[in-house]
Amino acid sequence: MNKEILKNIKVLYVEDENDVREFTGKTIKAIVKDIIIAKDGKEGLDEYLNNPDIDLIVTDINMPKMGGLEMCEEIRKSNKEVPIVITSAHNDPNFLKQAIDVGVSAYAMKPIDLYQLIESMIKAVEPIFLRNQLEKVNLSLEERVEEGIKKIKSILDAQDNIVFVSDIKTITNVNKKFLEFFDVNSLEEFLTKTPCITACFKEDKGCFNLKNIVGDEKNWIKYLINLSEVDRIVKIANKNGEDRVFTVNIDDYKQNDFYVISLTDITELKEKSNLLEYQANHDLLTGLFNRQKFHEIFGKEIRRDKRYENELSLILFDIDHFKIFNDKYGHNLGDEVLKFLAQIVSKNVREHDTIVRWGGEEFIVLLPETNIEGATKVAEKIRVALENFEDKTIPEKVTASFGVTTLTEGDDENSFIQKADKALYEAKTQGRNRVISKS
Ligand code: GH3
Ligand code: MG
Ligand code: MG
Repeated sequence: MNKEILKNIKVLYVEDENDVREFTGKTIKAIVKDIIIAKDGKEGLDEYLNNPDIDLIVTDINMPKMGGLEMCEEIRKSNKEVPIVITSAHNDPNFLKQAIDVGVSAYAMKPIDLYQLIESMIKAVEPIFLRNQLEKVNLSLEERVEEGIKKIKSILDAQDNIVFVSDIKTITNVNKKFLEFFDVNSLEEFLTKTPCITACFKEDKGCFNLKNIVGDEKNWIKYLINLSEVDRIVKIANKNGEDRVFTVNIDDYKQNDFYVISLTDITELKEKSNLLEYQANHDLLTGLFNRQKFHEIFGKEIRRDKRYENELSLILFDIDHFKIFNDKYGHNLGDEVLKFLAQIVSKNVREHDTIVRWGGEEFIVLLPETNIEGATKVAEKIRVALENFEDKTIPEKVTASFGVTTLTEGDDENSFIQKADKALYEAKTQGRNRVISKS
């Protein structure tokens, strides 16, 4: 028997017989938190109305002024739940029916067996006690959840990332960084200005934008989830109008149909990697591609060439007597010539031709879908453009010699370039400033 649960309750005990009241009252008092004793139904009712925090009523039935059951009927008008234990010498069916009607929880026979009374009291209080306990647990669960949410919020707010929670349609929560970035005071303010965050995603190469999704289902979250990390990139302008680049990480809480989306700013990283990529592939003096990039592009072109049986031609050219120019005017001016030359060549080739600084003053133009005649014409165009080039900073005419070739069966990169080199050598030996082609 769990007497413990009685320790926290307040009992109203109603008994008209003095001896019984005194003795039983004392016993109950010893095991409960608080007791109010009344000597008849009328007094009991008054006490109850004055003490609505009473947890249990223990009452005799037959009493002057107002009987116990009558009192209980009155109490039930204001409280349907407070448990009631009746003590009686009667086990008259009429009493019992009335007792059931007022919702008596338990019954202890008189003369009172204390053990039985306590058991009845426990039995009466237990359901309420359990429910209260449960409520307490629930409350503390709720409190814990609230505490958890607070903690999560503070973690999110401390995040350097922009974090927001969204269901399939709209954003439901955002962190501090989000509000700061978009320069709004609240999510509501953001949503009135921008009903869907995708409107902020700017169109750019390599960045996700709503236009990337073809078809009717414009579910950007699901679309992004299926992309690999390197492709989950968005560009958003900050409050100062500066473009920032973010990787998007999405956690999918499937059961609850919401997503936690975090945007990590990688602008500087991206710039750096773009720069590194640029440096790895370009000649920094002229801005043209370098040898490294040539190998890459050549590899792709040669595969394409074989597949489509398209022609791939190559021009290799070298500035004439450049050593003399450098010796005469200095290396810096020589560099200026190289830069001008790069511009001249760029103007005289097509967009999908690749210009490479092959070595010091040697250049290559790779011309896809071009036969040797076509490539020779391009080389001639460049040669003439260079010959006719004038700039007040360049004191002397500069010319170059050109070797042109085209890819034939069995050629690899080396043999391809060797053929062009032979042609170039001929152009040099035949007097320079000319184009020689060799297939
Ligand atoms: P040729 O007509 O036979 O090609 O004569 P050349 O003097 O041009 O040939 P050579 O191979 O003897 O010399 C190449 C010169 O190109 C040597 C060097 O001064 C110059 N050169 C190579 N790279 C650079 C560069 O980055 N900047 C400058 N200013 N000059 C360069
Ligand atoms: Mg040379
Ligand atoms: Mg030279």
